[in-house]
Amino acid sequence: MGNSKIVGRFAPSPSGRLHLGNMLSSLLAWLDVRSLGGTMLFRLEDLDPERSFKVYADLMAEDLLWLGLDWEEGWHPDGGENYAQGSRSALYEDAFQRLKDMGLLYSCYCSRAQRLAASAPHPGEMRDCGCGCRTMTDVNRRLMEKNGRLPAVKVHVPDTEITFTDGHYGPQVFSFRSGYDDFIVRRADSVFAYQLAVSYDDALMGVTRVVRARDLMDSTPKQIWLMEQLGYPPLTYCHGPLLVAGGGRKMSKRDGDLNMEALRRQHTPETLCGKLAYLAGLLPEPAPIKAIDLVPLFSWDKVKKDGIFLPDGLF
Ligand code: GLU
Repeated sequence: MGNSKIVGRFAPSPSGRLHLGNMLSSLLAWLDVRSLGGTMLFRLEDLDPERSFKVYADLMAEDLLWLGLDWEEGWHPDGGENYAQGSRSALYEDAFQRLKDMGLLYSCYCSRAQRLAASAPHPGEMRDCGCGCRTMTDVNRRLMEKNGRLPAVKVHVPDTEITFTDGHYGPQVFSFRSGYDDFIVRRADSVFAYQLAVSYDDALMGVTRVVRARDLMDSTPKQIWLMEQLGYPPLTYCHGPLLVAGGGRKMSKRDGDLNMEALRRQHTPETLCGKLAYLAGLLPEPAPIKAIDLVPLFSWDKVKKDGIFLPDGLF
């Protein structure tokens, strides 16, 4: 019997074709919710107009469905625009105004590298500058603006600890250092940043379970804290293991070798699903299986925790 209170989501950014790592996370998100009798929604994370393409959005939806991963609610190639972040700026503006009214926001005039961090929610790209912009004098601020420096907007965090229990990795403790861990909520080009949009959307859309890859673990305390400021309770977060490509690097949409275009040429949905389930730890062998037949076999206890290196010859 379905449990209407459990809602998970696919939240892909249409900046390239989905790769093997994205498919693994999507499969885990779907299995998590289906095994609990909940529903899935598809939210298109096309916040960044320069890196979002409709053609990839369409292909992402098609690739998920090809593998047997479906959703009840949300964006699809022929509609559901209100589930596309690119058309939700007015909502993010509301959240932004509320944070502003609480005195939590300030303009940050730091370099492009730091501004880009707001659109790249992955560790390593998520530098923060621990800058002096928050206490900048009005004279300096006017000088910056006279010189054409457009500010990003950051939220100021206090010295605090954020704790939560990850559904897969267990108890987590993150320390915020006031000033250093401030993060961007609106970029200098006025595009709302990932942290604001994703957490506000999860709250507004009634998502109860966020399942995503472990490289986003560092974003979770920021999202929990932001939502707390806006009056929303934390959700359940389950991070999944990362797939590690050749040479020990993290997989990226920029890698052509293991994206869905290449994978679909060499696999049926069942053969790919079996290999993903085997990599995750859900099957002892990479034997073909339908996604739906994995539902009764799914349990987080079986899912690996360490980074998963691709065995030679599997793909
Ligand atoms: N849109 C993000 C990505 O494709 C995922 C964000 C999330 O799951 O919170 O990497």
